Amino acid sequence: MNAAAPLLEVRNLVKHFRVAGGLFGGRSGLIRAVDGVSFELRRGETLGLVGESGCGKTTTGRCILQLERPTSGEVIFEGRDLTRLGEDELRAVRRKMQVIFQDPYSSLNPRMTVGQIIAEPLAVHGIVTERRSRAQRVRDLLSHVGLLPQHADRYPHQLSGGQRQRVGIARALAVEPALIICDEPVSALDVSIQAQIINLLSDRVAVMYLGKIVEITDRKSLYDVPLHPYTKALLSAVPIPDPVLEAQRERVVLGGEVPSPLNPPPGCVFHPRCPIAVDRCRREVPELREIRAGHRAACILA
Ligand code: SF4
Repeated sequence: MNAAAPLLEVRNLVKHFRVAGGLFGGRSGLIRAVDGVSFELRRGETLGLVGESGCGKTTTGRCILQLERPTSGEVIFEGRDLTRLGEDELRAVRRKMQVIFQDPYSSLNPRMTVGQIIAEPLAVHGIVTERRSRAQRVRDLLSHVGLLPQHADRYPHQLSGGQRQRVGIARALAVEPALIICDEPVSALDVSIQAQIINLLSDRVAVMYLGKIVEITDRKSLYDVPLHPYTKALLSAVPIPDPVLEAQRERVVLGGEVPSPLNPPPGCVFHPRCPIAVDRCRREVPELREIRAGHRAACILA
């Protein structure tokens, strides 16, 4: 394998779900959950997928792992297109790719202690075979994500949302994956913990809206120079701890709801809510293009 090649390349990933008309007059049609997502990741990088619920983050994560088979597109991991692999071949690959899903509670087995939850992948994948070393590794992982050794004996329901999220992260890190994709791991946490978790994890951030990536760059550029009006609105909703700065800054309030992926708007899918939309936005689909080095956005005015 070429060492300079990206570890993961997602090319034009599409996942559509067909919905039948409901008994009570619901409309039938195609839900465009993921609609042409492309990005690359290098070895050792972490990508955070950010956006409102229903924007396609979870489906993108599931399609990359092939837990959901994509409608079209390619997912090239270590040089192989995962969409063409069978279940047996995929099992070995999945260990190297971890996705941290949005809801930490539903992904943790309630009958297992935190220690058992983190130790399980170490044993299953034969990473640490000796029991005592495994217990030590669990303690190391707990401390790495900011938890205490005594948390190992607790059950998920005895932890706060933030602590459970950290257990999910420790479990994902346990298998020493080549790649981690986080499905908005901050949404279940309170704001003070959000920044810590993002610092712990994401090198790069992709902002999604209605099944498309609208902006992708490293964490710092996204916060310092957001380019897409949707990203600006999302960031302006995060409170700043300094009251003077908080009072001075501009807040972008978005009108309306996220449109249905069953019938997405023509042109730029963000145009019905975009505060700076012009006429062209109703007709032209903006391409995700490089606007600054390593910083891409899908907006005709960016
Ligand atoms: Fe707003 Fe137009 Fe840019 Fe879309 S293309 S984000 S509607 S300005």
